[in-house]
Amino acid sequence: MTKQRRTDDRYVLGIESTADDFGVGISTFNGEILANAKSAYIPQEGGIHPREAARHHAENASNVLQEAFQQAKLGPKSISAVAFSQGPGLGPCLRTGATVSRALATYLGIPLVGVNHCIAHIEIGKLKTGAIDPVTLYVSGGNTMVTAFDSGRYRVFGETLDVALGNCLDVFAREAGLRQKAGVPFGAAIEKLAVGRRELVPLPYTVKGMDISLSGLLTAAAGLLEDRKCRLEDLCYSLQETAFSMVTEVTERALAHTEKNEVLLTGGVAANRRLQSMIKSIAQEHKARFCVVPSQFAVDNGAMIAWTGALAYGQGLVTPVERSFVKLRWRLEEVDVPWLK
Ligand code: AMP
Ligand code: MG
Repeated sequence: MTKQRRTDDRYVLGIESTADDFGVGISTFNGEILANAKSAYIPQEGGIHPREAARHHAENASNVLQEAFQQAKLGPKSISAVAFSQGPGLGPCLRTGATVSRALATYLGIPLVGVNHCIAHIEIGKLKTGAIDPVTLYVSGGNTMVTAFDSGRYRVFGETLDVALGNCLDVFAREAGLRQKAGVPFGAAIEKLAVGRRELVPLPYTVKGMDISLSGLLTAAAGLLEDRKCRLEDLCYSLQETAFSMVTEVTERALAHTEKNEVLLTGGVAANRRLQSMIKSIAQEHKARFCVVPSQFAVDNGAMIAWTGALAYGQGLVTPVERSFVKLRWRLEEVDVPWLK
């Protein structure tokens, strides 16, 4: 549904809550990020428990909102629209963010704008690197895909058939008994252990056409760990080398096929230096510019939702409250992106 943007509209607030992070960002319509506050849920043990994460979001929403307003030096009345992650993601987490967003928009009497979380990762990457029309490798805790814009929508060229790359690293780290510390994601802990290693342990490498599969790799790496046949550091190195080579192969093929001249790396795993160097090398081979999202915008964040909300609302797109239900499996190729020509 569309609604004319008013001439005095200036700021969009964005709420991210698809998984373990509750984030609030504030953006102008020119892509100036005025605030990017967040609180991350860290499970006591095991993976993300959706209801526990949702409870964390509900308990921390008001503090994170307050922090975002303080960072931006703005009051709630200055906001023109409330954008929120409408999907894809974990149901209880998404619903908590949507409830907060509906309450805020209704109270302030301003429009709601539902944003696709995957598109937001791409748009913040483009905004922060200046990329215009890249082939994007988007790798995070819940998603792994190679995508590019074509004929009005982002199209998926390849993706994981099972586990997401970030999740693969996280599960392996937990199997290895690593503990998650605030501000140090599991993927970063694996990266640190892998630095300087050279012992490549053979692990399953599964690329099927443009898609990849990581579950066999994960099972094999976890099995070797249990057998205590290999050093943890060597397994971290080999897991990275193997999994990153798989996504790099698919990205290169998409680049060769589309002949685009930019490659963008985005999502939480984009913070990994080794992955950055692999993607950079294929970009160079194809004479494409290598772009990587800055690390504070790599993991899930509210700023990317605010900015994508500004792009959508700038085109007059709004989401009426009665149609603001969350979409757990919302694919990015289902979304029209009229702000790109
Ligand atoms: P997101 O889902 O976008 O919030 O990203 C979270 C994912 O990024 C988790 O799976 C993390 O383990 C992963 N991650 C964060 N930093 C790194 C890093 N330096 N190397 C690899 N993975 C990382
Ligand atoms: Mg996250």
